[in-house]
Amino acid sequence: MFGRKIKILRLSGFDVYVDASWLVLAALVTWSLADSVFPMMRPGLPKATYWYMGLGGAIGLFLSIVLHEFAHSVIARANGIRMRGITLFIFGGVAEMMDEPPTPESEFKMAIAGPIMSVLVAGVCYGGAVVLSGPMEVVSVTLRYLGQINLLLAGFNMVPAFPLDGGRVLRSILWKVQNSLKKATHVSSIIGSSFGLFMILVGVVSILTGHFVAGFWWFLLGMFVRSAAQQSYEQVLLRQYLQGEPVARFMNRNVVTVPPDLRLDEFVQNYVYYHHFKAYPVVSEGRLLGIVSVESLRGIPKEQWATLTVADAMEPCDGTNSIPPTLDTLQALSLMARQGKSRLLVVDNGEMIGMISFRDIMEFFNLKVALDESIP
Ligand SMILES: [Zn+2]
Repeated sequence: MFGRKIKILRLSGFDVYVDASWLVLAALVTWSLADSVFPMMRPGLPKATYWYMGLGGAIGLFLSIVLHEFAHSVIARANGIRMRGITLFIFGGVAEMMDEPPTPESEFKMAIAGPIMSVLVAGVCYGGAVVLSGPMEVVSVTLRYLGQINLLLAGFNMVPAFPLDGGRVLRSILWKVQNSLKKATHVSSIIGSSFGLFMILVGVVSILTGHFVAGFWWFLLGMFVRSAAQQSYEQVLLRQYLQGEPVARFMNRNVVTVPPDLRLDEFVQNYVYYHHFKAYPVVSEGRLLGIVSVESLRGIPKEQWATLTVADAMEPCDGTNSIPPTLDTLQALSLMARQGKSRLLVVDNGEMIGMISFRDIMEFFNLKVALDESIP
């Protein structure tokens, strides 16, 4: 979903990205505006005019979403939450946070800022539509549409289903009242995923009754809301259990190492097929030289495995594959996600002291969740 994104502008310190999927939305919006929405709102104009209006509407929608996310970002920054930037994708936009809001108050303000901005933008659009209704009717009709869209944007986002803005508002209130972020997230994410399910059902019913495009849209949006709701609860738990825990707690100290002069075919036979690990530190006389993984073999043709050694295939140890033992486990997880690696070397002063794997962290996490849930 967030695969190919291009940075298109920088707005008071925030980078605005457009995901490739947004272009699909932009094309669909332009087409449906020019083909049906505007001809219905104001019949009798030339076809080309409708296309200009459609394009204007799509650009206006783009700006509306950017302003909505910009409002979230500005308020978040003012409350000390670091932001990664604004990304527009097929379902609208998202202001990506690097941290979770520290207090219920900061979450409330940050969440409500977006819908408030959309209501304000709607007001400006309607105002403009009234002023221009005589001299520039075409612009006026486009603005009237943008006014509606911004109200819709505010309304949809205020549905109290986490992670929509309304869900965040609900969570911040529950968080304040119950004094537990975990419980608040649990409740609001259940509502969020139920709402997602409801949208999926609406989608299915619409498709069955012949409203294919709208139905498909509801279905996709429902799937998105549902998975986002479930993921965000998991993330809160992860944060709660793993933040502040150094990786040294979860690392495996009995690491299988390989010597640098080992032939690659032997490495595959005697290590990869035997231990089933994906990565092995390369160690010679107690010194850490690098790391060799199943991935590093991929670029080397099989015929050469009998002549090349581990030293030829290994990668040097750097910030992408090794971490200090004091690093926060949550940060280790996000490094794994960024680098697409499931294992990291734990290195202290140039010496390898262990290895940490995604699986080990998750096993601990699942155990913790299971134990926590069994206690009333
Ligand atoms: Zn929002």
